Amino acid sequence: MYDLIIIGSGPAGLTAAIYAARAKLSAIVLEQNFISGGQVINTYEVDNYPGLPGISGMDLSMKFREHAESLGAEFVRAQVISVHVENGIKMVRTENGLYETKTLIMSTGADHRKLGVPGEDRLMGMGVSYCATCDGAFFKGSDVAVIGGGDVAVEDAIFLARGCRKVYVVHRRDELRAAKMLQERLFALPNVEMVWDSTVSSLEGENQVGAVKIVNVKDGSKKTLHVDGVFIAVGITPTTELFKGVVDMDQNGYIITDENGTTSVPGIYAAGDARVKQLRQIITAAADGANAVTSALNYLLEN
Ligand code: NAP
Repeated sequence: MYDLIIIGSGPAGLTAAIYAARAKLSAIVLEQNFISGGQVINTYEVDNYPGLPGISGMDLSMKFREHAESLGAEFVRAQVISVHVENGIKMVRTENGLYETKTLIMSTGADHRKLGVPGEDRLMGMGVSYCATCDGAFFKGSDVAVIGGGDVAVEDAIFLARGCRKVYVVHRRDELRAAKMLQERLFALPNVEMVWDSTVSSLEGENQVGAVKIVNVKDGSKKTLHVDGVFIAVGITPTTELFKGVVDMDQNGYIITDENGTTSVPGIYAAGDARVKQLRQIITAAADGANAVTSALNYLLEN
């Protein structure tokens, strides 16, 4: 029986591991990937984590992980199959067996959202990608399109512009959602072309992306962009399927908590991108992890 099990090892889970280790809780982190860090590992350059300007997402994740391990945090690689509660005990079933714990932190983060247009599924891995830092190198010297207008889309476009001949950024409005500083960096790049007020109607190609068909939402005009790659960055969806029916969620599947990570079930907390919150960034995920462990400690003292 553990004091605490942390599911997920992005910035929220890794920070929770640091705080749990310092509190000398008997705790484990269950992680399903070979590399800790969650979505952050796909960020080429992190520009807003205090004290470490310009660090790569991979390096920052490794620092988090090394920090947690140096304090004695224990990590177990295991795919969680289900979670349920029996007489206040939280039962976490994994492919490796059943774990029991008094408290639980759900820090499973979020994953990329699909665009949902014809050609997207068929051409996935054949020119359609959701990770510029993973796949960008395959498109050196090529023309590519990035779909979206948030931080991820703009960061991806800046990254791709280093190696690609031309980068189109297709956005459904005439204003980007991304941070202003990122926008300025994007607009200064000579090989980036903005395609405003446009949505994608289909992705074309036989065995490889050859074109993106787009529609202007203001005048209905249609256009074809001839590209070899399409990077889709239209937001995220929470990775919370496992917890449906266990804790309360909003209509989009984000776990409902208070600011201390408290969910609808005593002794279960949520931290990071998986929970309802205003700002989903590394620093807020890390703060959530710290708060959730503090909440778990209070619960353990009282129960
Ligand atoms: P996001 O901020 O939700 O932006 C998604 C973008 O995709 C928006 O521009 C949205 O358009 C567009 N979009 C959504 N659905 C679409 C559709 N069906 N068709 C066309 N366009 C669509 O998501 P994100 O960029 O993935 O970022 C996720 C979170 O991580 C955000 O909270 C972000 O701030 C954070 N993040 C932070 C950093 C950083 O601080 N360095 C880096 C990366 C990510 P509209 O603008 O019209 O809604």
